[in-house]
Amino acid sequence: MCGRRRAATLHPPIDPGVRVKPREVQRIAYATRLREGAGFEVRRAFPLPGLDQVDPFLLLDEMGPTVYAPGEAVGAPDHPHRGFETVTYVLAGEYLHEDSAGHRGSLKPGDVQWMTAGDGVIHSEQPSAQIKEEGGRVHGFQLWVNLPARDKRIAPRYQDVRAEAMPTWRSDDGRAQVKVIAGHVLGVQAQAETRSPITFVDVALDPGAEVTLDIPAAQNAFVYVFNGSMTVGALGRTARDGDMAMLTRGDTLPLRGKSPRSRALVIAGEPLDEPVVRHGPFVMNTVEEVQEAIADFQAGRFGQIAR
Ligand code: FE
Repeated sequence: MCGRRRAATLHPPIDPGVRVKPREVQRIAYATRLREGAGFEVRRAFPLPGLDQVDPFLLLDEMGPTVYAPGEAVGAPDHPHRGFETVTYVLAGEYLHEDSAGHRGSLKPGDVQWMTAGDGVIHSEQPSAQIKEEGGRVHGFQLWVNLPARDKRIAPRYQDVRAEAMPTWRSDDGRAQVKVIAGHVLGVQAQAETRSPITFVDVALDPGAEVTLDIPAAQNAFVYVFNGSMTVGALGRTARDGDMAMLTRGDTLPLRGKSPRSRALVIAGEPLDEPVVRHGPFVMNTVEEVQEAIADFQAGRFGQIAR
């Protein structure tokens, strides 16, 4: 009796009604180099011609990696935002972020700042004074997350997650690592609170190391590789540095490292399925709301950064 029970625990009967379907690569898009802000170089995964958004995501930029000489580093001086969130994830260098809601903070390697622009802020994103003066290497990401219509005018909010506090899953042999920036993956709960269901992780794999992520099936998902190469999905399609692999719907996402220190962001979210009217830094649901945002900005209703 006892033996039977143990056997049952070790080999639970497979419920024929439950099928686990892995996500696969639907298509691969290639990030494009361009200049942003005051002229810093980014690799833009989207929006690009043919790929406006990945609902609920509006933009993904990889900033650098760039090595600045002394006096060369530039950022994004004062600019407005309304109707969405900007998520900044720094890998190298240091940035100073300030806004008209009175938030001010520095971001160091491994730090994440989840900014809900909501009703509107004037925002400034600059390399630190030290990097401007002495030069140095900067590298990071910015993701724009759309807000549902009900939240577009909420009060601005900042959430800072420091590198040392980032919830992280590691395989027993340490060859696979997953930093959980948003959502709940591999039993690890992220700190950042999101306004709609979102998953955002940074995956690092040694050659041959595997991990299978449990991303909710209702979420649109993609993989952006930013170092080396890895295989994506049960069919093992290869994605390389700068590739953005759009994924089919499924319950699991198998990933396998193909090169030393392959790295990728895996980003997923439940689609909002709402109209999107975007005009630069204003992302609303109707043309009238965008016109109102422009008028509010021009009238100075977003305030200004206290310096
Ligand atoms: Fe900004």
